[in-house]
Amino acid sequence: MSDFIKKEKEVYFPVFARYPLLVERAEGKYVYDSKGNQYLDFISGIGVCILGHSHPRLLKVFEGQAKKLIHVSSLYYTQEQIKLAEELSVRFGKGKCFFSNSGAEANEAALKLTRKYGHCLYGGKRYKIITAYGSFHGRTFKTLAATGQPEKQKDFEPLPPGFVHIPLNDVKALEAAVDESTIAVMLEAIQGEGGVNFCSSGYLKEVERICRQQGLLLILDEVQTGMGRTGSFFAYEQYGIKPDIVTLAKGLGNGFPIGATIARSEIADYFEKGDHGSTFGGNALACVVALETLKLLDEEGLIEKVSEQGIFFLELFKKLEGDNFIKEVRGKGFMIGIEFEKPVAKKISLKLIEKGVLAGTCGENVLRFLPPYIVEESDFELVFAKLKEALEEFKKNEHD
Ligand SMILES: *Cc1c(COP(=O)(O)O)cnc(C)c1O
Repeated sequence: MSDFIKKEKEVYFPVFARYPLLVERAEGKYVYDSKGNQYLDFISGIGVCILGHSHPRLLKVFEGQAKKLIHVSSLYYTQEQIKLAEELSVRFGKGKCFFSNSGAEANEAALKLTRKYGHCLYGGKRYKIITAYGSFHGRTFKTLAATGQPEKQKDFEPLPPGFVHIPLNDVKALEAAVDESTIAVMLEAIQGEGGVNFCSSGYLKEVERICRQQGLLLILDEVQTGMGRTGSFFAYEQYGIKPDIVTLAKGLGNGFPIGATIARSEIADYFEKGDHGSTFGGNALACVVALETLKLLDEEGLIEKVSEQGIFFLELFKKLEGDNFIKEVRGKGFMIGIEFEKPVAKKISLKLIEKGVLAGTCGENVLRFLPPYIVEESDFELVFAKLKEALEEFKKNEHD
């Protein structure tokens, strides 16, 4: 084992169950370890490096901007920040943005804006936010409270109050959970960390209807599903709905940290000067990298590609459903989850690493692929073959 891997135990918080891989560099769709071994990256830093690693155009703007201006804080105006805000506001449609450095922070801003809205309109009497079981909204205290996974929360209580969790795709449960103190519903269109769990299209439409009827804000956490991951810029576009607030992060800076909270303008305007802020958020460098990422998505038609190839991707992996080891294969675009009958996802992903493929897991039963948008059908076929091999070997070992 590498000395660095040993050293980590001494010097780093023991919070990560990492794979035994010391990564040295990456280029395009490949990652290389310290021994020079190559891995096909089918997790892209948890859905972050959507254009692959070290994209030459991104490196160019990165270098140019780093020489020109990295950071001055939001004490001043920068054209880079305003250009990115304009770009995202247009994609959302009549919105306003706030930039931070991560998904949790993007959600935190959405939650604070919602609280402020409740104070302005209802004197703070409406503050409760309904979220779904199995959701994941981040690691700060408030986003942890929003996250509908009691096992992640139990050692950190007391959590900030004001969150109610409901089962996904159950309209009656939502209706029953709404009361006079409810201000918003917050969901992921497809739960990522929770196991690639879909909102049914009928469900999201009903959620939107209930929100409109009851005067609730609809917040969508698109930190993982946004930026084209599911075949449209925002996943909600495929559901024919529009939220009041949406959050982005993972793919937005292709690896450079940036989060965005986008709200309908009339809601964003409930915030006043001093209500929120961030020292690093929306710095010129992050904004330029995000702008170029958006430009490349458009110029190279990558979202259409994800939408089309995602169908092939899903059909291919669906063939595994005949295997009695596998419960279900589900996904949309370049977001695929393979649910096993047993908690073996980690072991299978370890086997895939031995075979030169990087994948992820969500929970113990689901193996997850979030490849960069630049992979080709031949890459899917390769991963499919390696996964079949891994499964065969795993089953053989289990019987031995
Ligand atoms: C990853 C993720 C987050 C948290 O993002 P961080 O950048 O790790 O804070 C929040 N919501 C969803 C849906 C995510 O997938």
